[in-house]
Order: sequence, then C-alpha cells, then structure tokens
Amino acid sequence: MASPKALAVGGVRAVIKGSAAVGDTLRPPAPGITILIYHRVGAGSGGQMDLAPDAFERQLAWLAATQRVLTLDAAADEIGDIAGPTGPGVVLTFDDGTTDWVDQVLPALERHALPATFYVSTDFVDRGVPFPADGRPLTWVGLAELDSSDLVTVGNHTHRHLLLDRLAPAEIDEELDRSQELLAEHLGAVPTHFCYPKAVAGSPAAEEAVRARFRTAVLAGTRPNDRDADLWRLTRSPVQPSDGDRWFRRKAMGGMHLEDDLRRSVNRLRYRGLTS
Ligand SMILES: [Zn+2]
Repeated sequence: MASPKALAVGGVRAVIKGSAAVGDTLRPPAPGITILIYHRVGAGSGGQMDLAPDAFERQLAWLAATQRVLTLDAAADEIGDIAGPTGPGVVLTFDDGTTDWVDQVLPALERHALPATFYVSTDFVDRGVPFPADGRPLTWVGLAELDSSDLVTVGNHTHRHLLLDRLAPAEIDEELDRSQELLAEHLGAVPTHFCYPKAVAGSPAAEEAVRARFRTAVLAGTRPNDRDADLWRLTRSPVQPSDGDRWFRRKAMGGMHLEDDLRRSVNRLRYRGLTS
C-alpha cells in the first residue's frame, strides 16, 4: 500500500498534469517535432523514470499506428531545413545507459520498427558503477549489441553525468572528450548528438564546447521543436508512469507544456547546490 506521503505526492502530480491538460485546451500545442525522454523500462524501481513494460508496449503500438516517428538525424534535417518540419513528428530518446535498454527496450522497438536515440554516461559503463536507484549499467558488449541495430543511434550524455554549468572550461572539455573517445573506441564511430545531464543547460563555455562537437543537443521544456528551434537547445518531453495512456498521448502530440514550468520550479529547489 502506498504511504501517506506517496499518496500526497501522487495527488499533487495529478493536479499538475490536470492543469497542464487544461492549459492545452486553452492554448493548443505548437506544431513541430516532439522529442520524448525515457530512462528505464521494466526495472521495477517504482520511480517516475521507470516505466512498466506493458505501458511501454502500449505506447509504442499507439505511436507506430498514429504518429510519424523519426530518427533524431531525420528530425534535425527537418528542423534545420528552411521550410521546417513537414508535419508533426515524434523522436524517442533514452538517457543514462542501463541494462533494460537491451533486455526490454530494444526488443520492443524491434517489434514496432521504431527508431530511438540512447544517450550514454560512459563512466558508469566503463567502471560498471550503478546509476541512481540501482540502475545496472550496460557493459560495453551490451552497448555494442544495442548499437548494432539499424534502429539505434547512440549519443553522448557526458562521462560522469556532471552538471556542465558548474564546471570550469578544462573540466567541460574533459567530460565531453573522454566520453567521445570511449564511445568511439567501443562502438567504432564518434557520436554526433548530445544530452545535457538532468536537462540543465550549460554555461556559455559549456554551450560553446557542445556546439563545437555535436550536431544537436537536448534539454527539457515539454514543447515541440519547429523550424525556429535551436538544434543545440532542442526541447524534450519526459514520459512518466503517472502519465497513463491519456496524458502520454497528449505529450507525444506536443502538449502538457505547463507541467514543465511547474516541475522546473520544484527541480530548481531539488538540485540547488548539487553538482551531479
Ligand atoms: Zn541522465
């Protein structure tokens, strides 16, 4: 049974999502390409970054049947084109680098022939150190297996998952270059896409370092990316178990922006003073 505190948190979350849905009715989502953020599937941690396999399966079936799901490169081509995206679209992204990507996520993507991008924090994989909430890291062999699928693009999520806005320029270069070297060594290609840890934008120095090395970079924001979007500040919409089918579909269609504003205020407090 859920604790009183968990019930209270769940209640607040539902109110926030309900308010965001009303916000969508008042101001419909902007056109463009929606990038969804996933972390783990089927890890059983009970957290908001861990989706049950049956919910994930339903989401993929619905996306395959109703939406235009693009690779990140195809989306970047359209957003960067002078005419902008040819219509609404969805990009699937996964953050960090846990074993469920091979055990759960890849087989499900293959069942529905949907492409996705996976952003890896390389230090966890290289040293076999767990991610928060017992997230078992992939091995290099597992990551290479994932990368061998035509549906998969592997991106960079820094080496140690440090917040780049708190680092000196030399440390920023080290974080980015170490992970690029390791990914190139183990996968045979240098990644061209980047994801800021915890979706916190970098300092001007960090942004410059990211722009010099990658074709795209992603943050949070819960809104679609249209032709005026900055390819190094693409916005993403986080998928949470508490979305259920109804709010998930709204997010995938570019809605629920208001939820991000409210969550961001909470996170500003949570991450204050932290470096990773
Ligand atoms: Zn992360």
